[in-house]
Amino acid sequence: MKNSKFIVIAAPSGSGKTTIVNKLIKEKDLDLHFSVSATSRDPRKNEEDGENYFFISKEEFVRKVSNNEFIEWEEVYKGVFYGTLISELENAKEKNLIFDIDVIGGLNIKRKFKDQSLTIFIKPPSIDELEKRLKKRNSETDSSIKIRIDKAKNEILLADKFDYIVENDILEKSYWEVFNLVNNFINE
Ligand code: 5GP
Repeated sequence: MKNSKFIVIAAPSGSGKTTIVNKLIKEKDLDLHFSVSATSRDPRKNEEDGENYFFISKEEFVRKVSNNEFIEWEEVYKGVFYGTLISELENAKEKNLIFDIDVIGGLNIKRKFKDQSLTIFIKPPSIDELEKRLKKRNSETDSSIKIRIDKAKNEILLADKFDYIVENDILEKSYWEVFNLVNNFINE
């Protein structure tokens, strides 16, 4: 049986990561399956339970942690939990999975599945640009923007622990760079 390959796309919030991941999933040739994480945060408009995330309560999240149901999990923001369920990897069988997870979570996946995984860090052109993009998104309050920016500064320091860094200055150009890395890894 062929092993699944794991593609980890990590980046500070607002770097264009989700746009890139969603485009990759639509590439028929790559045949990637999205790893649906569990989170204790509330769904945003247009988010579906079981599709974007498994939206669960904080209590249920903590219960799953004590039952060892996660491959990795993080308190990504104070009091808000995110994690990859072991069941999600089991359900993947031979399929290749793509993860949209935070930087620490991405490095944890790499540690556990070294040869099986490719990690790509999407780097925003600058912190100022990141702030502009977060404001434009209109889904964040001022305090949540500040939290995300502070976190981004720490995450950028970990970029060189990833297999590749792709700067997201022009989305289309960055996308094809990521596509080629993923395509080569899957077919190697
Ligand atoms: P958002 O609330 O904007 O959807 O996600 C916030 C951050 O949590 C993003 O960086 C996202 O990639 C990350 N995240 C989503 N799922 C997981 C997960 O399963 N594990 C970890 N460690 N981070 C995750």
